[in-house]
Amino acid sequence: MLATPASVSFLSVKPPLLNRLGSLLALAAPLVSLFAAAPAWAGSALAAWRIDRSGTLELRTPPGTNLEAFFERGNASQGPRLWVDLPGAPQRSRSIGGNGPIQEVRIGRPSDDSTRLVVEFKPGVDLDPSQLRLVGTSPDRWQMKLVPALQGVRPIGEGDFEGPALPSWRALPPSGSSLPLGPMPSLETLPNVQRGRFKVVIDPGHGGPDPGAIGIRGLRETDVVLDVSLQVAQILQAKGVQVLLTRTSEVDVDLPPRVALANNSRADLFLSIHANALSMARPDVNGVETFYFQPGVSQRLAEAVQRQMLLVSPGSPDRGARPGRFFVIRRTVMPAALAEMGFVTGRLDSPRLADPAFRRRMAIAIATGVLNFLLGQR
Ligand code: ZN
Repeated sequence: MLATPASVSFLSVKPPLLNRLGSLLALAAPLVSLFAAAPAWAGSALAAWRIDRSGTLELRTPPGTNLEAFFERGNASQGPRLWVDLPGAPQRSRSIGGNGPIQEVRIGRPSDDSTRLVVEFKPGVDLDPSQLRLVGTSPDRWQMKLVPALQGVRPIGEGDFEGPALPSWRALPPSGSSLPLGPMPSLETLPNVQRGRFKVVIDPGHGGPDPGAIGIRGLRETDVVLDVSLQVAQILQAKGVQVLLTRTSEVDVDLPPRVALANNSRADLFLSIHANALSMARPDVNGVETFYFQPGVSQRLAEAVQRQMLLVSPGSPDRGARPGRFFVIRRTVMPAALAEMGFVTGRLDSPRLADPAFRRRMAIAIATGVLNFLLGQR
């Protein structure tokens, strides 16, 4: 551990009462023994955070998480900052713009196995570290009142505070599934199409302030789908398909513009890529599914993608190609489907979706499904 500079103070952290934690741990006991081996944790214990209008910082973590909080005084050019260190690494570092007295909030990765949430204030903001205290308000929630400095701030945050209790931190499976990955499909055997003949719109679900579903160890749907979608686009382009993406980075794109992009570009095909989620209390639910709105051509597209995704997901249940009423597949005028690559809340799917090697397989599989559909093959 690094020496603490004089301007940095430890903040008091009061863990939650253990009453509910006890029963949660008892529930999760079989898992603890299953995954007792030294874990290579990836995925952050920071499941959600927000700063609300009353100037309160709130965090959500799995029960049993140990946190440390720090404060550093500001100077003339730099505002004060506070940070909270949590176990497990975030999927990616990021910063979220603040407002009012908040300069920005950063999610960083100070080591391979930790997450740092930094709240940086504007110069001149006055906070008294002796008044700052991170208090566990329930087994999976933490609060720090930042008033009066922050009263009237516009709420910011990421992740889900409303879902049911998270499984215990100690009970969660390590990243890097011990389950076998499917075979790595070969790019060489993928068919080429006539260059310039087909235009495809790939729609990475969610993005920006909307991370979509948040799963086990903070696995974020938006990160998974953006990575796979960019790879699908790159593979299809290499095979001669013209590809348009509804987003290429962590930005928020509403649903109507995604549909408008597809409809105005007269694309031949629209594919929205998502990861599924259920409650954190249902890690038993896993599986791959693909939705279509129109029976017929869109259904064939959904079936072609579903078939390929299953090939690289051994053991994950086939939830089928089935009808769904999602806006982006209902309003697009070309053959359209919405693929759900697995459950970020699933015990089987989640560690796989967190694994770049699995995401590569998934991207090749989805691209194969699209090419097969374009060429009229199964
Ligand atoms: Zn989604």
